[in-house]
Amino acid sequence: MSGSILAGVRGFVFDLDGCVWNGSALNPGAGEALAALHGADRGLVFLTNNSRATADDIRRRLWALGITFAEHTLTPLEIIGEVIARRFGPSRVLVIGAPELADVIARAGHEIVETKDYRRATVVAVGNDFDLTYERLTAAARAAAAGAPLVTPNVDPRLPLEGGEFLPGCGALVEAVAVAAGVRPVVVGKPEPPLFRIALERLGLESAATAMVGDSVASDIKGARQLGMRTVLYAPAGGASAPEADLVVRSFAELARVAGVA
Ligand SMILES: [Mg+2]
Repeated sequence: MSGSILAGVRGFVFDLDGCVWNGSALNPGAGEALAALHGADRGLVFLTNNSRATADDIRRRLWALGITFAEHTLTPLEIIGEVIARRFGPSRVLVIGAPELADVIARAGHEIVETKDYRRATVVAVGNDFDLTYERLTAAARAAAAGAPLVTPNVDPRLPLEGGEFLPGCGALVEAVAVAAGVRPVVVGKPEPPLFRIALERLGLESAATAMVGDSVASDIKGARQLGMRTVLYAPAGGASAPEADLVVRSFAELARVAGVA
């Protein structure tokens, strides 16, 4: 582990779930480290794979936790409607997921199909759904098996909570649909490039002058590396050997030290 890897970094992109926070609580030292980076004039973007929240929702949650300088927040919900339009044209979409997911897809000009009308669907969108029923799972699997492309904000297996607990993530639901339908999903969020590209635009920096900080090798580290960003794996439990990441930190205090702002 070398500090020099962050020497020229002027902007940081932070993952949220399992990194900046777990459930509704900031991880230890996160608030202080973020404030120190902001105070040292580093650009900050918060990039989450959350399939149930818009950028405004995320900004409000960060503000409520004292991160009052969170100007740039990004979630797959910002672009999922546009991705569907670009790849498949104006579509009739069967949505499994939170009301926020259906809202952003409808606002992008697509028609939302009722569960019972799944045979009319030309696209199936699956996000995390805390009210999932077997009926809706069946509708989604049948529509996808019949040829409607399967689109999802993310394939993250778990949603980390406080105290080491977790909920099944969006990826667990997507996999259920995909396995039953015999198809693979189109992924909108991390590790795919579009949201990383928007993050770099918001920072106004070349990728080599930026670092992605996150707890997932599969989503955060592999995704950011593809674009040439520096990569920092946040591994508070320790023991993680991650040759994929440029740097592994055990704490936000360590990150602040290596970044030269503590
Ligand atoms: Mg995470």
